[in-house]
Amino acid sequence: MPVTAQSDRPEAIAIEPGRLFIGGQWRDSLSGATLPTVNPATEEVITTVASAGVEDVHAAVDAARRAFEESGWASMRGSERAKVLLRIADLIDANAHELAYRESVDMGMLYTDARYVAVAHIANMFRYFSGWTTKFDGAVRPAEPVPGQPGELLAYTRREPLGVIAAITPFNFPLVLSVSKIAPALAAGNCVIHKPASDTPLSALTLARIMQEAGVPDGVYNTICGPGAVVGDALVRSPGIDKVAFTGSTAVGRGLAQGAAETFKHVTLELGGKSPNIVFADADLDAAAQTAFFACMWNKGEVCVAGTRLLVQRDILDDMLDQLRKLCAATVLGDPLDPATTMGPLASRAEYNKVLDYIESGKQAGIPLVASEAKVPDRGFFVPPAIFGPGDNSTRIAREEIFGPVLTVIPFTDFDEAIRIANDTPYGLASGVQTTNARTAIRAAHRLQAGTVWVNTWHHYDPSAPFGGYKTSGYGRENGPESLDAYTQLKTIWMDLA
Ligand code: NAD
Repeated sequence: MPVTAQSDRPEAIAIEPGRLFIGGQWRDSLSGATLPTVNPATEEVITTVASAGVEDVHAAVDAARRAFEESGWASMRGSERAKVLLRIADLIDANAHELAYRESVDMGMLYTDARYVAVAHIANMFRYFSGWTTKFDGAVRPAEPVPGQPGELLAYTRREPLGVIAAITPFNFPLVLSVSKIAPALAAGNCVIHKPASDTPLSALTLARIMQEAGVPDGVYNTICGPGAVVGDALVRSPGIDKVAFTGSTAVGRGLAQGAAETFKHVTLELGGKSPNIVFADADLDAAAQTAFFACMWNKGEVCVAGTRLLVQRDILDDMLDQLRKLCAATVLGDPLDPATTMGPLASRAEYNKVLDYIESGKQAGIPLVASEAKVPDRGFFVPPAIFGPGDNSTRIAREEIFGPVLTVIPFTDFDEAIRIANDTPYGLASGVQTTNARTAIRAAHRLQAGTVWVNTWHHYDPSAPFGGYKTSGYGRENGPESLDAYTQLKTIWMDLA
């Protein structure tokens, strides 16, 4: 993803305490509870946000159900709904600084990435899905009466919205992974309750204000913050929710699918990953090293598709380790608002402690730590990029999702060994191949067990391109026309024309 350079430090904005957005009203939680949200670069509390309880979830579900039945959103002409989605996109552009600033101070994402990748992308997502509002068509089927019976039948299908969608989202790309659910859900005529991650609720609140300004009818869009085990769980179990669209960890996703089964909800799951990046000896070494570093370290490794297992053909192993060492040394850790910074802090103290524990486990396993010497600021949840290698695919740091800037380099000898190691993981979210041989690239892409394969590149993502996991990385696809099947249901209508 290209990042436009930004030479000046972005202007600071005041951030007021956040409230719940239910039925078109901004309100405190019924219990009055709040949760603090912390700037991971300074460890200071930015503000507080109303923390919902189960009774607030019920209020949000009631509001969304009423809106689904009565607001006219579901039955609105597609071309009219498209206008609302396009207004949302324009307002996202108009509020790009506020959205990016909140994203950056809340989760430690570089401001330039927040503004020119994440915010630009979500505006495009609304524009892309606005085009689909007028294309929910059906089919006429050549159904025949029972043999021997006279008459003529008409059988046709139509796509209808599902109803109320709970969008439960993680801390790492708050806006992008929320809008990948919200935009198709709204385009298809559903109502939405968004539950952002407790550590990163701030950009979601601006998004809710944008929905209101864009004229989304009251109750069609709701935002409730609060602990996943309370608010998320209540949404998952509520009979008033028709579908849960979830992005998060495989462990929470597993429990969520079980909870949703009680009420036979539709569920899509975008879960964890441990993505392999295979570098063949014929690759352009400079480009492959930069891609490998970017694949693993972008957004401080807090990326579900991070290429955290780097499989390198033995002939070029030493050269690759040298290149990676240099890229580590050039990393500038610091305030994500500072344009000179290339890596921000991890999103929370809990993530910081977890990642340090994994680094310790790699050291204990005796895997050489090739580099981790970047200068670290005095405070904040900063972890410098850590590269272990040569390592082994059986160690804990090569098997478990770390979700931080930690790369394990694993040597291989030939094509078949590379594919075997790459697929030897419970996950199947993404993968990549670095080679100058097109035949090698295509053969590898077809054999890799993952929902995405990048060839000589990494981290491309687009509203039009389906995205999702194999194996324990989840099921269902986001983005592209395929995602709309998960926000609609098919009705077949029969008519006796006799
Ligand atoms: P998480 O699973 O801890 O939380 C995700 C969301 O679920 C949060 O909003 C949380 O409050 C909520 N939640 C927690 N417990 C819940 C429960 N019992 N019932 C319902 N909801 C509950 O994940 P995280 O730590 O915020 O995010 C990191 C994880 O997300 C990583 O595993 C990462 O790979 C994954 N992820 C996947 C994708 C993808 O597209 N496949 C993208 C980004 C992140």
